Amino acid sequence: MKKGLIYLDHAATTPMDVSVHREMGQYCCLFFGNPATLYSLGRRSNEGVEKARAEVATLLGSSPDEVYFTSGGTESDNWAIQGTAFSHMEKGKHIITSTIEHHAVLDTCKFLEKIGFEVTYVPVDARALIDPDDVRRAIRKDTILISIMHANNEVGTVEPIAEIGKIARKAGVPFHTDAVQTVGKIPAKVDELGVDMLSLSGHKFYGPKGVGAMYIRKGTRIQRFMHGGGQEHNKRAGTHNVQGIVGVGAAAKLAVEHMSEDAERLRKLATKLNDGLLSSIPDIRSNGHPENKLPGMVHVCLEGIEGEAMLLCLDAEDICVSSGSACTTGSLDPSHVLLAMGMPAEVAHGSIRFSLGRHNTEEEIDRVLEVFPPIVRKLRAMSPTYHKTNLQTFRK
Ligand code: PLP
Repeated sequence: MKKGLIYLDHAATTPMDVSVHREMGQYCCLFFGNPATLYSLGRRSNEGVEKARAEVATLLGSSPDEVYFTSGGTESDNWAIQGTAFSHMEKGKHIITSTIEHHAVLDTCKFLEKIGFEVTYVPVDARALIDPDDVRRAIRKDTILISIMHANNEVGTVEPIAEIGKIARKAGVPFHTDAVQTVGKIPAKVDELGVDMLSLSGHKFYGPKGVGAMYIRKGTRIQRFMHGGGQEHNKRAGTHNVQGIVGVGAAAKLAVEHMSEDAERLRKLATKLNDGLLSSIPDIRSNGHPENKLPGMVHVCLEGIEGEAMLLCLDAEDICVSSGSACTTGSLDPSHVLLAMGMPAEVAHGSIRFSLGRHNTEEEIDRVLEVFPPIVRKLRAMSPTYHKTNLQTFRK
């Protein structure tokens, strides 16, 4: 990383831990055998895969044979939803999800709607929190899946998954959670959450990109997603991404060791940043749930300025942040999450997300608090809309 760069976009991706990289390296050049082969070189690769499976299982509190490796969060979400839909369609075609899911979930649901499935999108409140009773009320005789994210990737609100899990279990409906933003950061134990399926992604917790996993509870009916070879107990075809899988395992092991210490430190740093921004900048509001929040997430809206303008000015100061979720950057549409929270489009346009990680320091937060208020003043001085929109949201 460039010297002096302040990286505050860990919800988009995290730097790979050096020890994870070291472990992966052996499986690229030394133990490169195909894990499906029978000779010792292949068996050595397979040992790496199975060790990683056990490490992920420890993080999730599951049995190793309930962990299936995939190409990441997007594939896991697609598999959970399509695999469940196609294996339950004789029972019904109704799916429940929320309005604030990642596009990996929302677009999969949209695809299924086009081919005859029906989807109920439960709403959220102004803090992006889902009411479990809304999920309960949405369940019908023909409901075949509930998919609700563990924590939102834009504002960081952590959803009441354990409560929804109980509702799903009582109704006998399979329950999936997209835990891409929580695994490795806060406890995500599958039995405590009461989920049947859970998606995770290596690059969100100091592991490699393009590799992740899906937890599938024993006995859960789900169709395979990738067709081909017999890998992953005949459920997910394709030669294993051995080095990637080894990396996810190593990152999972690190997460088990560091999670509570990291979370406590990140909560303190995020509070310092959030409070510092609110006290030094007028016409600003902080978003997400104040308590049920991912450690290290700070999301604010500022009146009269575009998120992208703030992002670029901070980039000029070597500070990396996001003006929304990384996946929607580049689109001019306001974030669907902020709109679902009831925010007017003009407010949503002025949003910026700081997501802190393991290596951030107090000095870096001080630097942000030093350079950001003057950037806001400069941009507002040029803004044709600042103080013209009379947005009650900021002036309550
Ligand atoms: N789900 C959530 C909540 C995410 O934040 C992301 C990535 O930002 C994904 C799914 C997609 O994961 P991946 O990048 O591994 O495909």
